[in-house]
Amino acid sequence: MSDMSTYDVAIIGTGPAGAFLAYQLSAQGLQVALFEKEKLPREKICAGGLSARIADLLPFDISPVIQRNIYGATVSHKFQDAFTKYTDKLIISTIHRKDFDHQLVRYATEQGADLFDAEKVDDLRRDSDAYILISAKQEIRCRIAVGADGAHSFLAKKISLNPISLHHFGLQTEIPLDALDPFDFSTVKLDFGSVRDGYCWVFPKKDSASVGVMGHFKYAERLKPLLIEWLKLCGADSGDVVLQGYPIPHRITRSPLSRERIFLIGDAAGAADFWTGEGIYYALQHAQMLAVHIAGYFGGDRTALAGYKRAMDRVTLPDLRSSYYFSQAFNYLSPYAFKLIKNNDYPWDVFCRIMRGDRTFSELRQRLKPHILLNKIFNKESRGK
Ligand SMILES: Cc1cc2nc3c(=O)[nH]c(=O)nc-3n(C[C@H](O)[C@H](O)[C@H](O)COP(=O)(O)OP(=O)(O)OC[C@H]3O[C@@H](n4cnc5c(N)ncnc54)[C@H](O)[C@@H]3O)c2cc1C
Repeated sequence: MSDMSTYDVAIIGTGPAGAFLAYQLSAQGLQVALFEKEKLPREKICAGGLSARIADLLPFDISPVIQRNIYGATVSHKFQDAFTKYTDKLIISTIHRKDFDHQLVRYATEQGADLFDAEKVDDLRRDSDAYILISAKQEIRCRIAVGADGAHSFLAKKISLNPISLHHFGLQTEIPLDALDPFDFSTVKLDFGSVRDGYCWVFPKKDSASVGVMGHFKYAERLKPLLIEWLKLCGADSGDVVLQGYPIPHRITRSPLSRERIFLIGDAAGAADFWTGEGIYYALQHAQMLAVHIAGYFGGDRTALAGYKRAMDRVTLPDLRSSYYFSQAFNYLSPYAFKLIKNNDYPWDVFCRIMRGDRTFSELRQRLKPHILLNKIFNKESRGK
């Protein structure tokens, strides 16, 4: 195998985690191989909601793939008592994953990453100081291997890592917008309380909408009848819709994310937020953090790679954990929490700030000392300060 291609880094998976890591490493002059088992552009089961804070992570323009900008939410509890709240600044944009992910891959290949799509990585083996990645078409050699290969990560299994603490299951369908009863398409629809540890949603795009539900993995079989009911309540004929489901993985402990020079990022590392199911932001954040440590390593700092997990545990984990605790409290207090949100603007303001990146779940947890919270909620004078 003397003519085997050699790379600094080989990345498995072209979701947001893998594609964005490939972009950043290639932009720094590293030799990057990017593998994807599907032919691109590929679909990914996802509601396609991007929180506005993603703009702080991305150094390039994604406006060509934005479907809609969202400035409000209609919220109900057990399909009753719906109310709508608005905000004047962007909180969420919607995208089709096929377009968004492909755009990220294009940015990566423009920077010089070698893309091998329709090429599943079947195996990895150690060869002295390098790794050999094996597909049906070729073998390549790399110094560092990264599993950005999603919730069913092949690489995690291969190196016997299981960083995932809990799973949700997300079930959704994408239907034409005019199949739904009309509503303000600059808002999303959310229903809480109808499913344990989860919620139902409608995310409008230009001509279609993602209508779905996420709930605890253990109760996945209960999601289908619930989604059908939700579709009917939204005015859609559920008869001929195609339902698609996929796990949403969460890491809320300090479980290992690497072995030697093999790393997991994105869903493979349990990136998704427990409360909202948001995984794209965290997949990009993982990629950004790992890129810094890999660049340090190739820049001559042989200790740099060890910093990745420490950075993840310091930056991402507290947020994902805090979100998990908020979610538990919210579900436990569901009817009261709903009334609180309905009758006060403070929780809505906080949610908007988190979506925009002006606040994090872990900062919020620090700030929610009971006396501060009560003051914010009940003292109108103090709002907005
Ligand atoms: C129903 C549902 C709705 C969701 N809605 C949202 C939302 O609105 N907003 C949000 O932020 N998040 C949402 N998520 C979560 C989000 O989809 C994930 O967190 C995100 O896709 C993670 O990105 P990733 O790059 O880690 O992995 P993925 O996007 O899963 O990409 C992994 C890639 O690896 C490839 N791959 C796997 N194995 C191999 C192999 N052996 N060789 C080569 N390639 C391989 C796969 O084909 C895939 O392309 C939702 C999830 C579900 C299930």
